[in-house]
Amino acid sequence: MQRKVILSEHDIPTAYYNIQADLPNPLEPPLHPGTKQPIGPDDLSAIFPMELIRQEVTHERFVEIPDRVRAAYAVFRPSPLIRALDLERALDTPAHIYYKYEGVSPAGSHKLNTAIPQAYYNKEAGIKRLTTETGAGQWGSSLSLACNMFGLECKVYMVRVSYEQKPYRRSMIRAWGSDVVASPSRDTNAGRAVLKKDPASFGSLGIAISEAVEDAATHSDTNYSLGSVLNHVLLHQTIIGQEAMKQMEIAGEYPDVVIGCVGGGSNFGGLALPFIREKIAGRKIRAIAVEPASCPSLTKGEYRYDFGDTAGLTPLLPMYSLGHDFMPPSIHAGGLRYHGMAPIISRLYRDDLIEARAYEQNDVFAAAIQFARTEGIIPAPESSHAIRAAIDEALKARQEGQAKVILFNLSGHGHFDMTAYDAYLAGQLQNSAVEAGRSPN
Ligand SMILES: *Cc1c(COP(=O)(O)O)cnc(C)c1O
Repeated sequence: MQRKVILSEHDIPTAYYNIQADLPNPLEPPLHPGTKQPIGPDDLSAIFPMELIRQEVTHERFVEIPDRVRAAYAVFRPSPLIRALDLERALDTPAHIYYKYEGVSPAGSHKLNTAIPQAYYNKEAGIKRLTTETGAGQWGSSLSLACNMFGLECKVYMVRVSYEQKPYRRSMIRAWGSDVVASPSRDTNAGRAVLKKDPASFGSLGIAISEAVEDAATHSDTNYSLGSVLNHVLLHQTIIGQEAMKQMEIAGEYPDVVIGCVGGGSNFGGLALPFIREKIAGRKIRAIAVEPASCPSLTKGEYRYDFGDTAGLTPLLPMYSLGHDFMPPSIHAGGLRYHGMAPIISRLYRDDLIEARAYEQNDVFAAAIQFARTEGIIPAPESSHAIRAAIDEALKARQEGQAKVILFNLSGHGHFDMTAYDAYLAGQLQNSAVEAGRSPN
């Protein structure tokens, strides 16, 4: 039985798929944080290049991928589609389980899929330098590599607690040639203001965003870059689903259900959106977004306009949110600790085109260990949320005696998360579900 499907470089998609062309209900516009009026391209041009602003709002179904971007993708793409045969055997399930493995990228996750075109379009626009924030470090390391590929400087504001606890992500950012500072830093007004009040601040994603945006807005040769949530980021990630669709066809199957973990929604969207296009056209398929019980934006959040950052400086986005001042407890799936959700994913959930569920972290790590001991790959804690859901769907298939086909996104490897694995294996991980509309801090 064929275990994996590998495509050739010629099969790297030539265009990104834009679901805005096919949504039954269009997205509501982002609003200006001050005037609360819909924002226009000019409001964003201080920190984003015009081509990315255009991609954010366009309704054209396909956006061509430049040759130089496809050439950069070819270092690690197409990524493999693998059948989890040993996991199926261990579960004694009639279900067929497939996963798309994005951990083959040099930075170890799907995030390089959008870092590359973002660096490219900024370079084309004459920009010299990019700034960004990073929590666990996956996004910062991906953008650092992408900037290196296209000859851009890059400065990463890394949440102080991760800067200290994840030294190797920080080392990767430097190895690829970028600057990385602990946030709050002394380099911006936003950072200095926080340090004045609390010199020992651990930082937060919200503070780091404020620093990176301020840096970009106050330097004319500098732009800002975001690794998830926005429409153009999900657009870039659709190369995952397009490849997977071709690979499933070669395997002679079509998924009954596609599954991905959700932080801001980009890896789930990347895999699911091309399939949801077919669902909108009438095909039968389910899509499940999986989030941590400690930061349950879809399952416990409210659909409304909210800020993207803690300080309330970004445009207001229509999305499921736990509130922009929500402080999630420090679970180990750092990449899923975001209070909101991509407007595209929020729209699909509101329109019943996707499902959502939340898991406790001990259940997630149990799935991660079962996966590592059957399939071999040690998954990122974020990705392990998708594995948990895939296993549960396969167990349900066994109960119901149904041979269904399950496809999930393995968004990254967990090689920098081994302290979390150690804690789980020592029985020291705590569950930390939150209730609706309540912040634990
Ligand atoms: C950042 C990250 C996520 C969460 O981000 P999305 O935008 O929801 O995809 C998931 N998995 C990995 C490995 C990540 O690095």
